[in-house]
Amino acid sequence: MSEALDKMVGYRCIACGWEASADGLVTTCEECGANLDAVYDHEAIRASWSRENLAADPDPSLWRWLPLLPVRNGPGRRSLRVGGTPLVELNHIAGEFGLKRLLVKDDTRLPSGSLKDRASEVAIQHAAEHDRQMLIAASTGNAAASLAALSSWHGVRAVILAPASAPPAKLVQILQHGATLVPIDGSYDEAFDLSVQLAERTGGYTRSTGINPVLAEGKKTVALEIAEQLAWQVPDAVFVPVGDGCIMAGVYKGFADLLALGWIEKLPRLIAVQAEGSCAVVNALESGGEIRPVSAATVADSISVDFPRDGEKALRAVRVSSGFGVRVSDEEILAAQHDLASRTGVFAEPAASAAWAGLKKAAASGQLTEVESAAVLATGSGLKDIEAAQREIQLPQAVAPEVSAVEKAIQTGRRA
Ligand SMILES: *Cc1c(COP(=O)(O)O)cnc(C)c1O
Ligand SMILES: [Zn+2]
Repeated sequence: MSEALDKMVGYRCIACGWEASADGLVTTCEECGANLDAVYDHEAIRASWSRENLAADPDPSLWRWLPLLPVRNGPGRRSLRVGGTPLVELNHIAGEFGLKRLLVKDDTRLPSGSLKDRASEVAIQHAAEHDRQMLIAASTGNAAASLAALSSWHGVRAVILAPASAPPAKLVQILQHGATLVPIDGSYDEAFDLSVQLAERTGGYTRSTGINPVLAEGKKTVALEIAEQLAWQVPDAVFVPVGDGCIMAGVYKGFADLLALGWIEKLPRLIAVQAEGSCAVVNALESGGEIRPVSAATVADSISVDFPRDGEKALRAVRVSSGFGVRVSDEEILAAQHDLASRTGVFAEPAASAAWAGLKKAAASGQLTEVESAAVLATGSGLKDIEAAQREIQLPQAVAPEVSAVEKAIQTGRRA
């Protein structure tokens, strides 16, 4: 075994502490069924790897974090570059929210246009190291589009089960990248259960959220990057859109790993933003109780989830970091999408815009009193769901091809 995986202790159940070795493929706890964390020997990592080593690594992709990932090797021949996305400074807007510093982590720029690429990239490598040639995913769209895109470069087979109601752009993306798409006449939750059964029957590798702890490890690289980009001074708060809760789980895990290494001094407060029509995690945060399924309905398809598959990890992330939950309406999400796009250059899909809506709402309701700096995750591109984006926009009337008509249109035209 190479050095990299030597420093991984294995997997541990978040509920009962059951442990599994790093050598095998794991899903959930064999004792209690809860989800697993990847556990590292931070002492050993610190002894052989430093922030200076990292700074000297010219690779901008997420593979610069290999000692903190559950695989032995990176993919070797670099190509699609997953990771290394910009952390955009919004100095011109920060004051509006009473903040000194406001940042957007722009993961709309990842190869398939969403943060899911971070998980897919690590999962494909993990599957290869366990001799799995076929990867199976249930997805509302982005995880599948991501798996399809990255699989095409890595040369592995991707089988996708997606609700037939997923936005067309995401389904087209899956097919363009040559994956096998099976649209399911049912909900995401039904597609999810089918993906687990299919993986068991075929020996495929499951790239479905929650039950594969490797995915949160890939997603955590977004937090690792934010910390490095801010010279290890993490923001006071990070706004995260939450569906299944895997991104939230990963963001927490990334900062927690860095804290354990002694590379950062505190955890940011992690703010879970959900759509009002899909808010099982925020409900549980407010009631202090367990996660109860909801009947999800929201314009933000990527966070439309009845039963969050990484809900317990998301709750832990918010509670341990002294964060909180925010619910936003579909109207607020669509208004936030336009607000973000028209003032920052970042065009985010509704699920991603929910985080921006959450920032606006938290600031307006006085919840940011001890927060001076905040980062908002832009998790997916607005181009993925043009139909939703058009609801807030009126396409202007065509005018005659004469300069006077154009001038008149400019004078009367509002910024849509
Ligand atoms: C998947 C996704 C989310 C939510 O992530 P979870 O891990 O399901 O909580 C948010 N935004 C976008 C764009 C996504 O694709
Ligand atoms: Zn357990």
